[in-house]
Amino acid sequence: MLQQRTLKTITRAVGVGLHSGQRVELTLRPAQPDTGIVFRRVDLPQPVDIPISAAAVTDTRLASTIGTGNAKVHTVEHLMSACAGLGIDNMYVDITAEEVPILDGSSASFVFLLQSAGVELQNAPRRFIRVIRPVEVREGEGAHAKWARLTPYHGYKLSFEIDFDHPAVDSTGQRVEFDLGSGNYSRDIARARTFGFTRDVEMMRASGLALGGGLDNAIVMDDYKVLNSDGLRYDDEFVKHKILDAMGDLYLVGKPLLAAYSAFRSGHAMNNLLLRELLAQRDAWEEVTFEDDRQAPSGFLQPVRAW
Ligand SMILES: [Zn+2]
Repeated sequence: MLQQRTLKTITRAVGVGLHSGQRVELTLRPAQPDTGIVFRRVDLPQPVDIPISAAAVTDTRLASTIGTGNAKVHTVEHLMSACAGLGIDNMYVDITAEEVPILDGSSASFVFLLQSAGVELQNAPRRFIRVIRPVEVREGEGAHAKWARLTPYHGYKLSFEIDFDHPAVDSTGQRVEFDLGSGNYSRDIARARTFGFTRDVEMMRASGLALGGGLDNAIVMDDYKVLNSDGLRYDDEFVKHKILDAMGDLYLVGKPLLAAYSAFRSGHAMNNLLLRELLAQRDAWEEVTFEDDRQAPSGFLQPVRAW
């Protein structure tokens, strides 16, 4: 049986929120089978649980925010991406503020945290959402067109294409495909950092955003070039970060997907729309488990890989 996974032990991290600039403590804890991933705002007078789901996403401007009532958690996508990459099904995320710490701007620190806690196999079958009919969302026309789609695939692969019309971005790889079956998430995707342009930063700061952002947790560009003195971590770090984000956004559906995702200039908003469209088309997917490991697609079988 392909089993659900949780953490072996508790692990903690401290950092600042990218947008809020607020100090925040994160405690990742093991959870029972079929709990899913649950954020818990432990700083509120009465702690509030926010289980992840496509419908729990309440805001997608610049980052993915989940919420219930007045309780929110911003910028969940990099932690969710690490969970998708390592196949964590059940976990509590105790958090002391309304934004997940940005750490180094990638998901590498979360991968490290999860791996140091250790991954525990649980006595319950892992439940997948298998896409059986294509589902697509699309916006705009011609030069403004963007789209994202899921098609049936025995495994999980993502392909993404960007088009930022910026010299520093255009000189890097614009398209990347990552297959969980043949690739290595920790090595190939997790280290890609978020990125931003100095021309946007002033505007964002005026609206109280990007207050915690800087050269130690993002790739920052002026109108011509990358300003980080160390340069890029991958030749195609920008588009790889979009894959990292998409894996996090899509994991908010609450179960691993069996599908091929492809997207052109998609982002947090469109990724969430795609999930909602998928769930609304009840004949486009089914829930499956694998009693026999040999039936499971590669990429979900092996123990969690080290770096
Ligand atoms: Zn991101």
